[in-house]
Amino acid sequence: MKNMLLLISLAGLLCGCAGPATKYERAGVAMGTTVGLTIYAPAGEAEELADQVQDLLDETEQELSWRLQDSQISRINASAGKQEGYDLSGELAEHLHLLWQVSEDSDGAFDLTIAPVVRLWDIDRWALEDAEHLTGEIVPDKAQVAQKLTLTGYERVRFDEGSEDETQGAGERIYLPEGYMLDLGAAGKGLACDRVLALLEGRLQGQTGDPAARGAILSLGGNILTYGSKPDGSAWKVGITDPENPGDYLGVLTLTGTNFVTTSGDYERYVEVDGARYHHIIDPATGYPADSGVRSVTILSDRGMLGDALSTACFVLGAEKGMQLAAKYDVEILMVTDDGELVMSEGMKKVFTR
Ligand code: FAD
Ligand code: MG
Repeated sequence: MKNMLLLISLAGLLCGCAGPATKYERAGVAMGTTVGLTIYAPAGEAEELADQVQDLLDETEQELSWRLQDSQISRINASAGKQEGYDLSGELAEHLHLLWQVSEDSDGAFDLTIAPVVRLWDIDRWALEDAEHLTGEIVPDKAQVAQKLTLTGYERVRFDEGSEDETQGAGERIYLPEGYMLDLGAAGKGLACDRVLALLEGRLQGQTGDPAARGAILSLGGNILTYGSKPDGSAWKVGITDPENPGDYLGVLTLTGTNFVTTSGDYERYVEVDGARYHHIIDPATGYPADSGVRSVTILSDRGMLGDALSTACFVLGAEKGMQLAAKYDVEILMVTDDGELVMSEGMKKVFTR
């Protein structure tokens, strides 16, 4: 018996086993929304990893929030109109390029410079207070919307190689015209999910002699990341909210391994004024909440920030053009139209069950 125990512990040492994977759950808050995290890993490891995920989300918020004065995005915004522009870090330059490209490929339905119009609508206030108790003007005056629209337009954002002068930084520079602002509300949660995936891969992948499968599922507002697998091998199930009854699901996606599922809907942040619903996804062509005939768009992709930007873009574009944009980026899409019809790509049909 003693020998048997010795053998077991020796085997444990040799394979680096850290005990069986258990289910560890954590709830939190980041980026103005709720965080739900489930990790399947040996107990101590899961808890430590959950701390790291929360720290990473907080760091990403500090970097990207246009509400925090010292964030990278606020510093870029403060450089608007300045001849020297702003020196970007390599990673941020890459992200902003991709968001610029989605702006271009969606004909400006997604616009990384929409912030002045979003600020005018004061959408943040809708989340802070119960809509019933909102006071003052909610719907801005048409002339004000038109004026703010003159401070938007991704086409006028310029990037170029950094200066030779080291005091100005050697990285890539971004130049915003006077009065312009960047708003990563439509893509920042997806970017955060990309970073969490890199962390999970670093921590959970390739564990030699792993005693059980390791995996995790993160929910950050409307953004879901699945990674790895559960100890019992069962699939990840991601519910698709019914826009008509947000407490209910329209169906479920059955997924394995790594996936990003991102949803944009008109039921997430909105106010009702005189029977009309005003939601937080703005059509950059009009400066008003998009009215393209869809109530929600879900994108299934292998990159989080891209999926997030595309869910917003396709919401503004509507069913037909939204399908085309999703096909161009090779992502799967599910749209719920105003009359409750489901429009899906072929790949989405394979994983969706009513
Ligand atoms: P999405 O469709 O992904 O994005 C909609 C958001 O994108 C809008 O709210 C607007 O900001 C912007 N947008 C609207 N139309 C367009 C368009 N056509 N093109 C491009 N962008 C558009 N919420 C809080 O209440 N408090 C916070 O402190 C807070 N901090 C945040 C910090 C970060 C880094 C991020 C990423 C988000 C934060 N949020 C916060 C949430 C944020 O304000 C948005 O409500 C949220 O990101 C919307 O995500 P969504 O998935 O619902 O919609
Ligand atoms: Mg989005």
